[in-house]
Amino acid sequence: MTKIVIVGAGYAGMAAAAHLDKAGTPFTIVNNHDYHYLTTLLHEAAGGRGPGSNYQVPIKEVLRQDSSELVVDQITGIDRNKKVVVGQAGEYAYDYLIYGLGWVSEYFGIKGLKENSLSITNLDSAVGIREHIENEFKAYVKDGDKRHLRIALGGAGLTGIELMGELLEYLPQLCKSLDIPFSEVDVQCIEAMPTILPMVAPHLRPYVAETLTKKGGKLRTNTKIMEVTPGVVHLDGGETVEAGTIVWTGGVRANPLLTEAGFTVDRRGRGKVNSFLQSADDDHIFIVGDSAWAEDENGKPFPPTAQMAEQMGALAAHNLLAQLNRQPMKSFKPRNWGTLCSLGSEVGVGDAFGVPIKGVTAALAKEGSKAKYLWELGGMRLAGNRTKQMMRI
Ligand code: FAD
Repeated sequence: MTKIVIVGAGYAGMAAAAHLDKAGTPFTIVNNHDYHYLTTLLHEAAGGRGPGSNYQVPIKEVLRQDSSELVVDQITGIDRNKKVVVGQAGEYAYDYLIYGLGWVSEYFGIKGLKENSLSITNLDSAVGIREHIENEFKAYVKDGDKRHLRIALGGAGLTGIELMGELLEYLPQLCKSLDIPFSEVDVQCIEAMPTILPMVAPHLRPYVAETLTKKGGKLRTNTKIMEVTPGVVHLDGGETVEAGTIVWTGGVRANPLLTEAGFTVDRRGRGKVNSFLQSADDDHIFIVGDSAWAEDENGKPFPPTAQMAEQMGALAAHNLLAQLNRQPMKSFKPRNWGTLCSLGSEVGVGDAFGVPIKGVTAALAKEGSKAKYLWELGGMRLAGNRTKQMMRI
């Protein structure tokens, strides 16, 4: 029997797995948790909108066929000569591999940044940020040191801005519960570029700035982080920001396992693939999601987003089955539904199919995109249950 292994149960890996599960094709998916987490909503978990359990889906709730096997393991390498994926608990032999181990934070060589900052890289780290902030605020109650109430967010892209929006909604409640005046809290988002949210239409950016500033946040553009030491962000020009919480959201690169395994990669460590999403180095390996260096017909790389990852995962599974059945494979031609950025639970900005939207409309569209995703993954059973769970917050 042909051995099919999927590594990573993110947006890409789960889409591939769901496709093979529906087809009744036997495969093994190896992931470091027995659940899939909703990465695009992790800022909500970090900002305290809901408990961590709201943002996870047990993998076995999606993969229902006996022929679909889940193994929980941490992958540490790929041996292409032996055709095995190496994990901490065992080795997984494959004839075909779908690689979807996603991304890690990119620190751009900034001294001390990795060691001295938190980042939203998975569900545990997102929940860890919320707990860290709560502990800092409790420490302020004990010693009155205002640094505990300062939060420095590095990067004003989607993750940094969404996290800021969540925090500015949650922190007034946290302050109330601890009897701290919210006016003492300082949330700063520090961005090296001249603008925030490059993926959002320029005319919407002032709305974002106004919304966040009115809620008490500070947006600092054209401001470079030069170094981070414990509790201190060092900016260009010599200014320092002393903060109890420092979170880096400024960039991503592919999981380093591809580079370590000798695949052809771009400067962000993404593995080169052809239009069918097969690795340029091995046509029995499909690389999908944020780990894939796939280009459109003009040679422009597709962006590392969940909607690309989902579509890549589904196509890789389709093409793998096509190969097994000696059918023609399809090229990757994704649809772009738009980008949505929440600014807390009530408003947001972005575009739906290229049409710019803001305010409540954008927030509702973002809620709708969650339900759509769960529907596509697990049908009414998953979308209905999860939506109910999230509404109980
Ligand atoms: P991932 O979703 O990262 O999945 C990788 C999987 O592999 C995970 O399950 C992980 O646990 C597992 N894994 C990793 N390493 C190992 C290992 N060594 N062994 C075993 N398992 C491992 N994109 C959008 O399109 N729209 C948005 O609104 C949006 N918002 C975002 C908000 C935030 C806060 C963040 C952080 C990202 C956002 N993104 C958004 C980007 C989007 O989440 C990513 O593009 C997407 O998650 C990539 O999917 P993936 O399947 O490639 O990787």
